[in-house]
Amino acid sequence: MSRYEVEAIPQTESLPDLPGLVHGIKSEGPVWEVQCDDCLTLFRGEWLLMVAKSATFNARAGIGGLRLCDECWAVRGWHDSTMEGWTYREPVAAIRGER
Ligand SMILES: [Zn+2]
Repeated sequence: MSRYEVEAIPQTESLPDLPGLVHGIKSEGPVWEVQCDDCLTLFRGEWLLMVAKSATFNARAGIGGLRLCDECWAVRGWHDSTMEGWTYREPVAAIRGER
């Protein structure tokens, strides 16, 4: 696995945050892990920037502290793009299915 790759690992429960770090970080280097608050998928990789981008905060949604993957933000109607930043559109149906 290349150091730029991020592995998505399904989980059935929320893992504890690492003390002293921002919410959602479950393991710190050399292998970093970040978890989505909705689908609980754990994203694991060596490059923190790529791992952190796999489940992100969204200040525009007005939901403080929620860290979600792109698919879960889309289910709530939020889409992030380089050109427009966060924009609200129609919520999309869950792709990974119901928990
Ligand atoms: Zn998710």
